[in-house]
Amino acid sequence: MQRTPRCSRIAPSPTGPLHLGNACTFLVNWALARNLGWRLVLRIEDLDRDRAQAAGDTATEDVLAWLGIDHDGPVVRQSERLDAFAKAMERLAGLGLVYESPHSRSEVREASLALGAPHAADAPAPFPASLRPTDPGAWCFRRRDVNHRLRIEPGAVGVEDEVAGAHTFDPARDSGDPIVWTKAGFPAYQLAVTVDDIAQGVTDVVRGDDLLPSAAIQSIVHRALGHEPPRWWHLPLALEADGRRMAKRDGARSLASLRAAGVDPARVRGLVAGWIGAVERPEPLDPDAFRALVEPNILRRWHARATVSPPRLDERSVAWLHGS
Ligand code: GLU
Repeated sequence: MQRTPRCSRIAPSPTGPLHLGNACTFLVNWALARNLGWRLVLRIEDLDRDRAQAAGDTATEDVLAWLGIDHDGPVVRQSERLDAFAKAMERLAGLGLVYESPHSRSEVREASLALGAPHAADAPAPFPASLRPTDPGAWCFRRRDVNHRLRIEPGAVGVEDEVAGAHTFDPARDSGDPIVWTKAGFPAYQLAVTVDDIAQGVTDVVRGDDLLPSAAIQSIVHRALGHEPPRWWHLPLALEADGRRMAKRDGARSLASLRAAGVDPARVRGLVAGWIGAVERPEPLDPDAFRALVEPNILRRWHARATVSPPRLDERSVAWLHGS
């Protein structure tokens, strides 16, 4: 029996300068792929035109090269693949799964509140199925600039994660029918990422665990498009010293500015090796030495530890990066 070659991807969005949290995820992804003999492709997720920065992607490629991360094959840019995303939408429309949804955010919130649907105060209200159109003519894809949603069925969706273990989500209850095409006339994240993972033959998705709930939605999109979902490897996120999530807007700590300040990338790799628990104390590591330390069991132990005490960029780490 012929086995499909395994393949992973690094998929940054050029919406701001990459930070040390991105370096951690991408270095681990690269090391895993290189150790386990997977292909590794680079995909620039530049569909968010408002936020994507001009020339952001060449900056991304420079920073990845500085970290010692190489990839296979040509760089894919999602902005150049709009027709492929539209084709997938046509397929979903042919299956009766997508519909035009002109509802505003407040309409969604009101309808959801009226049903008493529980949701976290800081999360968008789940889209209630009662807002699905009754007019069969709205269940279509005419490439119009209006939000389109994917009908998803209620029920538990399991995500067997190679790092984070077994999780169950109920996306119909938690978020409702996801937007798959936006009113700006672009594919939405959940559609674009799935179509490209299929097109690029991605078998192993390695990324931050803020996207774990998305794995349930993407599993549904994979199956709707006639494919089995990939294996998932969701990694803990490194935090700022005060416990906040790292954000691309904090430019001062960006990888580009560390590089401009003369930081040795061997120290970035060493810091990451310390975060994941592969070394006891950070030490400068060349790419091969870093790679040799990364294996699935280290990542599982890191995940178990990180639920109690996630890696933080404390002052000592920052000083160490700068060579003291
Ligand atoms: N482009 C997404 C981001 O930068 C990641 C998508 C993914 O890995 O699925 O957050």
